[in-house]
Amino acid sequence: MEYFKPEGEKIICLLCAHYCRLRQGQKGMCRVNQNVSGAFKNLVYGYPVALHVDPVEKKPLYHFLPSTRALSLGTIGCNFKCSFCQNWCISQEKNLHVKEFIEPQRIVEMALKYECASIAYTYNEPTIFYPYAKDIAVIAHQKGIKNIFVTNGFASKEVVEDMSGIIDALNVDIKSFNETYYKKSLGGELHTLLENLKAWKKNGMWLEMTTLIVPTQNDSEEELHAIASFIAKELGVDTPWHLSAFHPDFHEQHLPHTPLSTLRRAYEIGKNAGLHHIYIGNTSVENATLCVTCKSVLIERKGFEVVENFLKEGRCPHCNTKLAGVFDEY
Ligand code: SF4
Repeated sequence: MEYFKPEGEKIICLLCAHYCRLRQGQKGMCRVNQNVSGAFKNLVYGYPVALHVDPVEKKPLYHFLPSTRALSLGTIGCNFKCSFCQNWCISQEKNLHVKEFIEPQRIVEMALKYECASIAYTYNEPTIFYPYAKDIAVIAHQKGIKNIFVTNGFASKEVVEDMSGIIDALNVDIKSFNETYYKKSLGGELHTLLENLKAWKKNGMWLEMTTLIVPTQNDSEEELHAIASFIAKELGVDTPWHLSAFHPDFHEQHLPHTPLSTLRRAYEIGKNAGLHHIYIGNTSVENATLCVTCKSVLIERKGFEVVENFLKEGRCPHCNTKLAGVFDEY
């Protein structure tokens, strides 16, 4: 795909749904894409600021190649401005401290060296460094390595389509079900996120959803019910929903930690909406995956560690029901 298109003296960035119109020298809202002499430049290409080997469960993806490793990388910058960002040190960093250029091939070599089944584009919003992520992802596929996006879901239509066949799985934030809140407090659009989710689902990518539950901001009964109902109706009842506990951070130091009682209430709301797989994260709550038919434990976890995986070729060993997800390719 083309990453920009010219419009008179300006160029339009086609990476995310902000579609920034950039005059000569101007950077977009994410501060990492720039009009340089009429051409598009992704300033963070080759310059990850975070690069770690994580369990894939930490993304979180619980139904995608469980107990494998994901080489995880992120750059600076973001196209949102969430006041509760739990990764604000890199997402809101304005200055690119250019160190060593790491070409895509070397990222894939690292993934092979550390026996990673996947590469995860994460920590900050990967859509804003899609040119780098895509170049890595294409080489990764040639080596049999899968690709994961951990995203706020505000990609452009062009990127959503381009990801098909390149990105295998996504964990997508659904931070609220309130259009005004998305616009004013986060700097995005709920309706764009919802349309993108439907497109990713239609394109056959494996999807898991995450909601960071921030006290007083998105923890009402109505809102959690609306989120859970959307997932159940539009993405399917087998789509995992991760409920994540907030800790005071960035501009929201005054808010309390999310109480366990709120997370448990959200869990019940999700169950009542028909969702089969709901997980409570960032707490010590156990998060086993159960068979939807006979309720046997299929995957036992402690934190992000898989203690025991009882699946047989992606199926329950007791009643042979297939578990939704991607299990048998690594
Ligand atoms: S990635 Fe999004 S925020 Fe950044 S320049 Fe492009 S359209 Fe603007």
